[in-house]
Amino acid sequence: MFDRTRLWLENRRLARLPVTREQWEDAVADWAPARRYQGERRERLFQQTLRFLLRKEFRGGGDFQVTPAMELKIATMAVVMIMGLDLDWYDGWYTVIVYEDAFVTPGDEMDEFGIVHSEGRVLAGEAWDRGPVLLSWQDVQAASSEPGFNVVLHEMAHKLDMRSGSANGAPPLHHGMDARVWHNTFTRAWSALEQAEREGEPFLDPYALQDPGEFFAVITESFFETPEPLEQILPEVYGQLAQFYRQDPLHTR
Ligand SMILES: [Zn+2]
Repeated sequence: MFDRTRLWLENRRLARLPVTREQWEDAVADWAPARRYQGERRERLFQQTLRFLLRKEFRGGGDFQVTPAMELKIATMAVVMIMGLDLDWYDGWYTVIVYEDAFVTPGDEMDEFGIVHSEGRVLAGEAWDRGPVLLSWQDVQAASSEPGFNVVLHEMAHKLDMRSGSANGAPPLHHGMDARVWHNTFTRAWSALEQAEREGEPFLDPYALQDPGEFFAVITESFFETPEPLEQILPEVYGQLAQFYRQDPLHTR
């Protein structure tokens, strides 16, 4: 938990942070979900975004230069998710590494022909347990360009999920929520997506079917980016997510 001394020090640093409200508004202007937050809630989104910047370190991957506007946009996306929770949900890790474009995850090996073997995937983002979040700026910029797509929301959902151990689609639930209801609701949604995928009309990115952790991350993207269709197609999942995130994107303003 955040103790008083830490909070007092953070408040002093916050007052000295050279970021204006206008700079923040410019940085998030093209990301539609931020428009749901108006009035006092918008001020709180701005303030929590600044606190996120104080608590995390941004670094460029390779020789990519991360600008303050990029940091603001990424931080805002992350903070939208915890507006009903608390910034403490992002405790326990420190660094956001931003690559210019899709990247091959570090640790992959190059063979004698110079070919990098990763499990065949170039990544838009990655979240390490108790470690950094890696993001491709091109993919951050592409948020909302395809329905429900948002790599920041995706990776941060993994981070929240990891608070109860591994990223397995079972994040720590609040008092009053029922783990069996959560499990059964998501299991039914999984089957529905499998069925829709077989029929050639998946209502979510079929990448969700990789494993329950990916399902939770992909559906979190949809919850904040395209809540209308999600609520229509999977009302029970929408209800569970609204309880977990303590937000209702369809009815906020
Ligand atoms: Zn993922």
